[in-house]
Amino acid sequence: MLYRSAKGGGKAVNFEQAILAGYAPDGGLYVPESLPEINVSQLNQWRDLSYKKLAFNILSLFIDRNIISSDELKGLLDESYDIFEHEEVIPFYALKSYKKTYVMELFYGPTLSFKDIGMSFLVNLVNFFLKRNKQHLSAIVATTGDTGPAAAHFIAGKSNLDGWLLYPKGLITESQERQMTTLQHPNIHPVGVYNCPEGGDDLDVVISKLYKNTSFKKKLKLSSVNSLNWGRVMMQTVHYFYGYLKISKHVGHAVNMVVPSGGFGNLCAGGLARKMGLPIKNLIVANNKNACLHRLFSKGIFSKEPIHETVSSAIDILIPINFWRYLYFCVDGNAKKIKNWVDAFEKTGKIVFDANTYKAYSKGFLSLSISDEETLTTMKNLYKKEKYLLDPHGGVAMTAAKKLKKSLGDDPLICLTTAHPAKFPEIIEQISKNKTLPKEATHPSIEDAKTRCQKGYTCDYTHLYKSLINAMETNWELHHKNIK
Ligand SMILES: *Cc1c(COP(=O)(O)O)cnc(C)c1O
Repeated sequence: MLYRSAKGGGKAVNFEQAILAGYAPDGGLYVPESLPEINVSQLNQWRDLSYKKLAFNILSLFIDRNIISSDELKGLLDESYDIFEHEEVIPFYALKSYKKTYVMELFYGPTLSFKDIGMSFLVNLVNFFLKRNKQHLSAIVATTGDTGPAAAHFIAGKSNLDGWLLYPKGLITESQERQMTTLQHPNIHPVGVYNCPEGGDDLDVVISKLYKNTSFKKKLKLSSVNSLNWGRVMMQTVHYFYGYLKISKHVGHAVNMVVPSGGFGNLCAGGLARKMGLPIKNLIVANNKNACLHRLFSKGIFSKEPIHETVSSAIDILIPINFWRYLYFCVDGNAKKIKNWVDAFEKTGKIVFDANTYKAYSKGFLSLSISDEETLTTMKNLYKKEKYLLDPHGGVAMTAAKKLKKSLGDDPLICLTTAHPAKFPEIIEQISKNKTLPKEATHPSIEDAKTRCQKGYTCDYTHLYKSLINAMETNWELHHKNIK
C-alpha cells in the first residue's frame, strides 16, 4: 500500500515514509492510495475479537508486511495497549436513563483522553522506525489540551525522539498543563504560549512556518504526531469497528454514533471505516459553539469564524484539518480539486461547496452545535439520575444524542466519550453541590501531578517563531549535535 498527498504533490511513498514525514512535501495530508474493502463475512469473523486482535487485523490492511512483520506489529500493539487501565482497553457503559444508548469510554489510557488511543501506537511506531534506521527526530505538537499530554507521556524517555509541546497558556486546564510539565525527562519540552488570539489554531500557523524553513527542518528533523499524521487517523478507525461489532446484534444492523468533534480526526476515521464497509448508519458531529463542522455538514459552508472559549476546550478548534482527508475520498481521490479548495480556503477563509460535493461528503452525517449551558445541564442531570459523570466533551456529545434521539428512532446509539472528568475539575465544580468534587472527578495520576514541580518554557505568541528556533537549536547543540 502506497501513500500520496491529498493535494497531489510529490511522489507516492511507503507507509514508513508517510509516518515519519507527518506532512507531505507539498503541505498536504497523506492518504492511502485506496481504501481497503471489508466484507460482511470478514466482519462476522471479527465479531468477538479483543481490541488488540481487531487492531492487528485492520492495521494489517494498511501496512505491508515487509515494512513491519506480523510479530513486530503484535509487539507494538502490546506495548501500546497493555498499559491501558482497563483490560478491555475500551469499555462500554449502558445508560439507564436512555434506552439503547451506550457510552464508549475512550479515556482509559495513561493521560485520560482519547488521544492516548492514536498517540500510543503512533509514537511507539515512530520510535520503532527511528531505532531501526538509527535516526533522531523532533516532534512538534500543537495542543488544545489533550494531544500534548498524550504525546509527552509516550515520547518521554525515548532517546530517538524529542517532544516540543506547544499549548495556549491559560486556555487549557491546570491538570492538562501539569500532565506535560511534571514529566522530568530531558527530551520533553512543554512551551506555554501567552496571548494566542485564536487559541490552539494559532500554534499550527507557527508550526507550518517552521516546516517551511527547510534548512532548520532538515537539521532538526522536524515531524509531527498531531492528527495530520496518517498513523493517528488509521489507528482511530479501529474503535469504530470495535464499537459497532460490540453493540450491533448482527452485521448490517443499523447503529448510530455521536462524536464530540473539533479537528475531525476522530470522525474522519469513522467516515473512512464506513467507506471501508462498516455499516454505521449515522455519524453525528457534536460541535460546541465553535461550529465549523456544523456549518460544513448542515450548510455546505467551510468558514473560519472568531473563536469562543467554551467548557469543552479541547474542541475549541476553528479549522478541522482532517476534513480535507475525508473529502479526498468523497471526490474519488481528485487531488486537484482538494488543492484548489485548500488554496482558496487559505486565501479567503471561506468556501461554499457546490451541491454535488456537499451531497457527497455529508451523506450519512448529522450535526449539531451545542451551547455550554446545554452541556452543563446534561452533565448535571445524568449525574443526578444515575451517578454517571461525563466530562464536558462527553456532555456535548450526549446533548446532541438526546436532541436527536427521537428522529433517529429505535436503533442503538453509541456516544463516544473522549476524556476522563478528572481532567476538567474546574468545570465539574460548576455542576457540583457546594463545589465539592465527587470522587468520579478525581484520578490518582492527576493528584500525583499536583505534588510535583513544573518544568517548561513560556513565551509570547508574537515572538513564538523566533523563540522556538532558539530553544530548539540550543537543545540540539547540547544533546544531539553528534548524531549524524
Ligand atoms: C481532541 C479531542 C476531541 C476532538 O477530536 P477531533 O479528532 O479533534 O475531532 C474531543 N474531545 C476531547 C476530550 C479531545 O481531547
